[in-house]
Amino acid sequence: MTVNYHTHTVRCRHATGTEREYIETAIARGIKLLGFSDHSPYVFEGSYYSGFRMRPEELEGYYKTLDSLREEYKGEIEIKIGLEAEYYPRFFDKYLKLIEPYGIDFLILGQHFMANEIEGIYSAQPTSDPERIRTYATQIVEGMKTGKFTYVAHPDVLPFRGEPEAYRREMSRICEAAKELDIPLEINMLGLRDNRNYPNPEFWKLVAEHGCRVVAGCDAHSPDAVAEPVNVRKTYEFAKRLGIKIEDKPLALRKPT
Ligand SMILES: [Zn+2]
Ligand SMILES: [Zn+2]
Repeated sequence: MTVNYHTHTVRCRHATGTEREYIETAIARGIKLLGFSDHSPYVFEGSYYSGFRMRPEELEGYYKTLDSLREEYKGEIEIKIGLEAEYYPRFFDKYLKLIEPYGIDFLILGQHFMANEIEGIYSAQPTSDPERIRTYATQIVEGMKTGKFTYVAHPDVLPFRGEPEAYRREMSRICEAAKELDIPLEINMLGLRDNRNYPNPEFWKLVAEHGCRVVAGCDAHSPDAVAEPVNVRKTYEFAKRLGIKIEDKPLALRKPT
């Protein structure tokens, strides 16, 4: 593994380690391009406070810290400054305005809630309701269509316990859109590392059938999770078993603003 675009920092309040530790670990493990993509700040309304992401006022420190490390480590590793963000239709325009001043390199789409986190449901909540999986797929497709996201993180985060046919039908729509829009889908290595419900082989079979582009993302919330050798092996075995080829090279980044 030589590129990874999915790396968090302490600002999201559920990750550990310094930016420098993530970078040093990446270098030691042969990563040539490290993308940071911490949970983005978002602007909501009223007094709502989101507890799993950086606050808007922390964005400047995030950018400046990484920008100076990028300079410092030039020649050793390439650093890209991105964010992992949801597509929340109601707040998305305000969101883009918030990040605009920083010239962020890329966004990855991590749809942690449906609709949005004030009015919607947590995406990783198990369900057997076909309506839920349909809504989820539609929102991912619409997010991809904004043209703002470089790839989709853990597209298979939703644990569906209903009719397999409904799952295939709705999740195929994500694959079709990804193929058409040329947007890679991420095998989430944190899910694999923690034995979560994702990556879900049923989803990745569809991805293989559709011939979508696939990347692997560490989703590192601690420095040791950056290209952890045993987990890299597990990831490549997972992909191979499903007939998927992981792209391990720098991506053409879609500038969000
Ligand atoms: Zn996280
Ligand atoms: Zn995520």
